[in-house]
Amino acid sequence: MTAKILVGPAGSGKTHQCIQRVLEVLNENPMGPIWVIVPDRLQAYAFRGRISVAGGAIGVHTGTFGDLYHQILWDADEPVPVTSDPMAQRFLQDSIRRVEGIEHFAPISDMPGFHKLLAGTINELKLARVWPDDFIEWTEGQPDGLGEIAQIYRAYQANLADIGWADSAGISWLATESLDGDRSLLHDWPLIVVDGFDSFNGSQRTTLRILSQRSPELLITLPGQEGMDRVAHRRFAKALEGLEAELEAEIEFLPRKETLPPSLDHLEQSLFVPEATPISTGDRLTMLEVRSPREEAREALRWLKSLIIRHGIQAHECAIVAPAPERYRAFLREAGLEFDMRLRFTHGESLASAPAIAALLDLLALPLTDYPRRLTLEAVRAPYFDLKSLGLNRADADRLDVVSRQGLVIQGLDQWEGALKRLALIDLPAAGDKSDSEDGLDLPSGEAATSLWVGLQAFSERLIMPEEGTTQSYVSWFEDLLDDLQFLKEDQTPGDEAAFEGLRGVLRALVLGESVAGEKKTTPMAFFRMLRSFLERANYRERVKWTDSVVLVLRVLEARGLRYKAVAVLGLSEGLFPEVEREDPFLREEMREALGLEKRLEREQGGLFYQAATRADEHLLLTRPTLADDGEHWEPSPFWIAVRAIFEDEPRLLRLGEPRAMADAASMEEALFWAVRRKALPGAYSEDLIERWDYLRRVSPMLHARLEKKAAGPFEGILDGLADQLNVRYGLEHVWSPSRFEAYGSCPHRFLVGSTLELEPIEPPVLGVDARQLGSMLHEILEQAYLNATDPTDLAQVLEALGEVSEEIFAQAPDRYGFRPTALWEVEQDQFRAALEESVEGLDQEGEGWTPIAFERPFGMLGEPPLQMKIDGERILVRGLIDRLDQSVNEQIRVVDYKTGASHLNSRDLIIGHRLQLPIYALAARDALSLGDPVDGFYWAILRAEAGNLRLGKFKHETQVDSYEGTTGAIALARKHVRRIVSGVRGGQFPPIPPQDGCPEFCPAAAWCWRYTPKSW
Ligand code: SF4
Repeated sequence: MTAKILVGPAGSGKTHQCIQRVLEVLNENPMGPIWVIVPDRLQAYAFRGRISVAGGAIGVHTGTFGDLYHQILWDADEPVPVTSDPMAQRFLQDSIRRVEGIEHFAPISDMPGFHKLLAGTINELKLARVWPDDFIEWTEGQPDGLGEIAQIYRAYQANLADIGWADSAGISWLATESLDGDRSLLHDWPLIVVDGFDSFNGSQRTTLRILSQRSPELLITLPGQEGMDRVAHRRFAKALEGLEAELEAEIEFLPRKETLPPSLDHLEQSLFVPEATPISTGDRLTMLEVRSPREEAREALRWLKSLIIRHGIQAHECAIVAPAPERYRAFLREAGLEFDMRLRFTHGESLASAPAIAALLDLLALPLTDYPRRLTLEAVRAPYFDLKSLGLNRADADRLDVVSRQGLVIQGLDQWEGALKRLALIDLPAAGDKSDSEDGLDLPSGEAATSLWVGLQAFSERLIMPEEGTTQSYVSWFEDLLDDLQFLKEDQTPGDEAAFEGLRGVLRALVLGESVAGEKKTTPMAFFRMLRSFLERANYRERVKWTDSVVLVLRVLEARGLRYKAVAVLGLSEGLFPEVEREDPFLREEMREALGLEKRLEREQGGLFYQAATRADEHLLLTRPTLADDGEHWEPSPFWIAVRAIFEDEPRLLRLGEPRAMADAASMEEALFWAVRRKALPGAYSEDLIERWDYLRRVSPMLHARLEKKAAGPFEGILDGLADQLNVRYGLEHVWSPSRFEAYGSCPHRFLVGSTLELEPIEPPVLGVDARQLGSMLHEILEQAYLNATDPTDLAQVLEALGEVSEEIFAQAPDRYGFRPTALWEVEQDQFRAALEESVEGLDQEGEGWTPIAFERPFGMLGEPPLQMKIDGERILVRGLIDRLDQSVNEQIRVVDYKTGASHLNSRDLIIGHRLQLPIYALAARDALSLGDPVDGFYWAILRAEAGNLRLGKFKHETQVDSYEGTTGAIALARKHVRRIVSGVRGGQFPPIPPQDGCPEFCPAAAWCWRYTPKSW
């Protein structure tokens, strides 16, 4: 029995030595059996390949520690079924329920996040060989909660023992127990090799100790070098120390081999060595700084593609090491698709995030959440289901969308039913080319609406789960549903296939879990929650054949053992790699140490970086993002700084818009993009790209215009070429309104989009009253309250009338104004009523000496003459509705305009031309309605019950040439603005000019305007 530990730096030939030893032993024992234990399947596959090429695969078993444990139990005639992860999760949930008196964790005991953390802790305790009873004893006197974790751990383990199963961590216990108990086991294994590890957990160390006593020869490799005193080797030094404490072994240090290019060799030797003399990176090591992780992903794949094409390196000889895989996965996938490069991610994604599974979960949630509008439309539209057998098809989603907006469907099957049944009673003519609905789709009515409701009803009935049942009965209902809805029957992508397979695995685990743990009645909601939590915890991975030549994307921990010709290590900025270390939420650092668990802090991530950076035999790329998500500078990571310190050359910084060599383009899209930047398409690309190039040439002036600081030209709303048509449309007979003037005054482009093109955003229905509806409602109540009072100057009478009027109008408001009240509608009514009462009282105080003489007084409509503004000898017609007109004893008048909110009611808004209503109304009262001389006017903010700051009578504004004072001055200034606005509209001047405090959300162009500026608060 000999045990040997081979320690050598990266690239020193440790695996090669293992293979040589395997071949030598095979020579003497041709059928072995020889065992080679490696950290993961990837390494097992690679080792098998190498040993086959060397001519010795027969008689050699290559696998992980888990495989070894199974073999031991098999040989001991004690095979044990092992739970899958979802099954283990099921047992854990069951165990939590079984433990009585949980208090500390009671509020979160049902949460998937708690289950996940707990499963991790139990797994770690098991791997460290901390038995449940020992842990219970250990937790006595420890802080609250730890005792509860210990109880759950014991219940979980008892659960497994009761049914004679083990989980993946527990199988090591059983295997080592068998080994301890049966000395005949493994006696015929002449050699056991353990290769590719850089650390071992407690369970693995114990196994190695027993193997060292049992097997004739045990050969273990570790990275490092004699002395193990370098920072880069600390992690391995600890692993060696742990082995030395556990087993007696001869340690052999392998010398370095100078087979690597000079810069990679220097990196291996000098990383984290302060006194190292810097050398040049040469052409084999590239350090690249780019703006973002997305660009890192693109540049890494471009770099690899160039090596594959120009240097003949095969894709499977390349690897990308990405910390924080969730951050990089989407970017790598996106660039891989564009660059036509296949990637194999070694880490899976949450099954619940697979689009088909997410759609399925949303579908199941429909009856539980009572058919919310968006989820219902998405379920009908989803490409993963076929609802024809229920009478619905995907195009019906658009029809239901129109129905939902017309019928204000927000949530609830009864709302869908109400909206569709109302439409079924009428028969609208087909709209043909010009539709009544906003998006060009006919509003279904009559039979079409009936058929939609029949389909939706059948769909909803099919989704009703049994009220109560076992998990197994819910699963079988669910499987029937998948069949009925033809789930994923058409156009499956490889990702869909993998997700579907994962789903089947989860369903199997749910059934199996129940059959071994015992049947229990559950409810639809509990089943849905359990399924969702299992799907969130389960991973899926798109299948790629091992034989396919693809670029590997590895997590940091997987970057060990194997070597590649080209490796890109991403994410060398602060917080990414090394990743931020956080304390274990259950076990503090000193507790972990006492229990023999690996530390969470000071995890020697330097050793992991050493491993990742020394995987390349020929080419290495190190990248880092320089701009954080918030746009701030992103500091380099200590690893980046350490590499920089040992090389002379500065890293390459890729700047935004930096010209690139066309030959470096990794896709046609990129070639086209760079050609546009260079303003020339090289002849070599003409054949493929000329059509798109011509198109881009046509649209490029548009893009340039929009990127200019100052709006100019036809693509920025300067439509002077249309002046003739605009002069006709907005000619002498055109009747303007103050709100149109104001729209142009605040942003000419908003006027173009909203008034000239008459575009309106299509908004989904929302619960409750919107700002426009509220404004109309409050205006109506105030008008009616004053009209109903016999004496509108008598406060008590107006308040009494207000009470009656508001009650009546509020009661009819949902139908009249078309909104679906929220549960707070009653409370809102009280608040609005209180604000209106305050307003009436406030207006009464303002009203001393004034008598209201008109409410909602029109001009230019309802038979009243328009205001005719004579400007530059031209007549401009204006119409409007004056909220209120007051008269003084000497027959002067003032205008009052109600506003719901209190913003933009200042003098400045008139000065800059954003608010023109008040002076125009004053002018209309005098010139169009002949009501007297206007001497004052103000805006009244109803909900604030106060007047705005602009008072026509006190208005004052001076420029270098003009002076404007009082109501006459305000009118003169408004006329000046009107002149500017009318001539701008007629002259086709519609540049987008965001208002100083940001664009209003109600601007019809807000969703797509390239100059949109959010509101500043
Ligand atoms: S989004 Fe802003 S800049 Fe664009 S049209 Fe609307 S208000 Fe003008």
